[in-house]
Amino acid sequence: MAQPLMLVTGGSRGIGAATVLLAASRGWHVAFSYKDNAEAANTVVAKAKSLGAEVIALQADVSNESDVVQLFETVEQKLGSISALINNAGMLEQQMRLDQMDLGRWQRVFSANVFGSFLCAKQAVMRMSTKHGGKGGVIVNVSSAASRLGSPNEFIDYAAAKGAVDSMTIGLAKELATEGIRVNAVRPGLIYTDIHASAGDPGRVDRVKTGVPMQRGGTAEEVAEAILWLASAQSSYVTGTLLDVTGGR
Ligand code: NAP
Repeated sequence: MAQPLMLVTGGSRGIGAATVLLAASRGWHVAFSYKDNAEAANTVVAKAKSLGAEVIALQADVSNESDVVQLFETVEQKLGSISALINNAGMLEQQMRLDQMDLGRWQRVFSANVFGSFLCAKQAVMRMSTKHGGKGGVIVNVSSAASRLGSPNEFIDYAAAKGAVDSMTIGLAKELATEGIRVNAVRPGLIYTDIHASAGDPGRVDRVKTGVPMQRGGTAEEVAEAILWLASAQSSYVTGTLLDVTGGR
């Protein structure tokens, strides 16, 4: 059988990059998107190719529908049919209280984290669902433990956006259960990536890690392991699940 194809959004850095590399090492071909950082994307492509995979990186803002449509069409033209979508691209903004936030920020946060996941899920369903003539597949959403912790004084908007991703995971899993597609989410806790710097707090994981039962932050590779399991046949009876990867937090 030909090697299966995985599409990872936001694969240029952090959890997405770790997922691309782990997938490449486990026999997947991989397409991934990035938003701005072509240099980081090229580095990931080179590393993944050295593992023997076919890999392409494409620029696409997941919050822009025409970018997403173009992304899926290009992946199909260059590498063929996908059998896994990893909805990983996500972002947060500077830490602040809700009463300091404005509508523009909420629109950006929901556009990237929620609508981006919805737009990509729609394209994947139209290709993978047996109802649309597809061969089935898997969707793994990268949510966050923030969805149940609420992130007070930091980013309630981001936490609420990930709450929407959790609800989408549960509903879409049921909607697609007889159409050959499993839908699950991972909910990472405090993971060492660049995302904390983008919120103005590069040392956040070490600052907050004493609140983690395991007393440490996690690595992008530890999250990627959970994603790859949910994408694999080894999780064939798992759908609609929110898998925490949080060191017990
Ligand atoms: P990161 O290191 O900041 O990397 C973010 C990745 O997403 C980059 O590849 C970036 O592309 C891409 N991206 C951001 N906005 C995008 C957009 N609108 N369209 C397309 N791509 C976009 O983040 P990370 O920590 O790995 O986070 C990955 C996922 O895990 C996110 O959904 C995040 O919410 C979730 N998560 C992270 C943590 C954590 O502690 N790190 C905890 C819980 C959940 P460029 O390189 O081009 O900028």
